[in-house]
Amino acid sequence: MRAIDIIEKKRDGHSLSTEEIRFFIEGFTAGEIPDYQASAWAMAVLLQGMDGRETADLTTAMAESGDQIDLSALVDIAVDKHSTGGVGDKTTLVAEPVVSACGVPVGKMSGRGLSFTGGTLDKMESFAGYRVDLTMEEFLQQLDQIGLVLAGQTADLAPADGKLYALRDVTGTVPSIPLIASSVMSKKIAAGAQAILLDVKLGSGAFMPDQEQAERLARLMVEIGDHAGRKVVALLSDMNQPLGRAVGNALEVKEAIATLSGGGPSDFREHALVVAGHMLTLGGAADDPEHGRQLAAEALEDGRALDKFRLLVEAQGGEPLWVDEPGNLPQASLIEQVEASHSGVLAEINARQVGLAVVGLGGGRQKKGDPIDPAVGVLIHHNVGDEVNAGQPLFEVHANDQAKLAEARQMILAAHRIVEGPVEPLPLFYGSFGG
Ligand code: URA
Repeated sequence: MRAIDIIEKKRDGHSLSTEEIRFFIEGFTAGEIPDYQASAWAMAVLLQGMDGRETADLTTAMAESGDQIDLSALVDIAVDKHSTGGVGDKTTLVAEPVVSACGVPVGKMSGRGLSFTGGTLDKMESFAGYRVDLTMEEFLQQLDQIGLVLAGQTADLAPADGKLYALRDVTGTVPSIPLIASSVMSKKIAAGAQAILLDVKLGSGAFMPDQEQAERLARLMVEIGDHAGRKVVALLSDMNQPLGRAVGNALEVKEAIATLSGGGPSDFREHALVVAGHMLTLGGAADDPEHGRQLAAEALEDGRALDKFRLLVEAQGGEPLWVDEPGNLPQASLIEQVEASHSGVLAEINARQVGLAVVGLGGGRQKKGDPIDPAVGVLIHHNVGDEVNAGQPLFEVHANDQAKLAEARQMILAAHRIVEGPVEPLPLFYGSFGG
C-alpha cells in the first residue's frame, strides 16, 4: 500500500477500506507518512467527506494508535465530557468539580486552544505552577485520592489524534464532521470513558456554524460511541455569542471561580448545571438530568464544588489560595471600557470575532507553539436581546499592549450589532441526542 494512492483515492471521492485507513494512521503515527501527505489527506477528507463506516474505522485506528486506559479498578463508571470548542467556554472548570463533589469521580484529559476557540489547559495554566503534564501514574493516583483530575492528553494516548489535530489547526482542516467526530471520540474511547457527555457547539463561535451540521456531528458521535459500547449523550448548545461574560484565560478562570462560589453570569451557570446534571445521570448518581441539575446546584450553593476545585489546583501544583483570592491571578496592565455609540437592541455579538480578537491580544495562538498571555481578554457586558443605551459600557478589553488593544477594540466593537427592533434572546440549548 502507498500513502499517495490513499490520498488520491479520497481526493477522487471514493471510500477508503478499513485496511487503508489503518495503514495511513499507523504510518502517520510512526512518522513514516510525513506531515505534508497527512495534510493533503486531511484536506481530501474535508472536501470529500467520509461515510459512517470509514469514520468508525478512523476513530478505532486513532484510539488504538497508543495506550488505552482502563479506569474500572478505580471508578464504578468512568464519566467524561468533551466540548467541540467555543468562545468563553469554561464549562469544564465548573461542571467537573461539581460532578466530582456529587460523588462521581472525573479524570479528564483536556486540550489547548484551537483556532479562535479557547482550551481548558491554557485556562488552568493561569495558576502559576499548575501542571498539566501528569504521568499516567500521577493521573491515576490523583483520581483515586481526590476524585478529580484536569490534565493534558499524555503523548501515548491517541497519539495519531494529537499529531493530526496540530496539523489540522494550521492547514484549514478543522471544520470537517468526520475529522472532528473521530478526533473527539478516539480520545474519549482511549481514555477509558464508559459514559461520555458531548457538548456540541453551533454558531458563529463554533466549528459547526449551523444546526443541521451540528446535528449530523452529534448523531455521528453518538453512533460511534454505540459501536464502541459506550453510553453517549450529545447536547447541542449555542455558540453564536460568547458563553458567559469572560473570554481570555485568567478572566475565564475568575468567572469560573465566581460561579463555583455561587455567583457568575446566569447563562454560564445554567449551562454548566445542565452539563453536570447529564454527567451525574450518566454516572448513575442522578435519576434523570433534572434531578442531576438539582444535585449540581446544591454542590454549587453549599461550597462543595469550590472545595473540590481548590483541591484540584493544589494537587496539580497551583497555589490554592488564589482560588479564594482570585485577584492574584494574572492581570493585564491596560484595561479599557468601550461604550455603545447608539441606543438599540443587541442583535449579534459575533463569537468568532470576539475569539479572534482575544487571540490577537495574545490570549490564543496564531501558530503552533506560540506562548499565551494569560492576563489578556475581554469582558462582554451584555447578551443578544439586551437593550443598550448610547454611552453605556458594552465591553471591557484587558491588554498588555496599546496597539493590540486598539485592534481588539475595533474587532469587538464590529462584532456587536445594535438594531432598532426587539430581538429574541438566544437559547442555551437546541436539543440532545442519545442517552
Ligand atoms: N475538538 C477536538 O477534540 N477535535 C476536533 O477536531 C475539534 C474539536
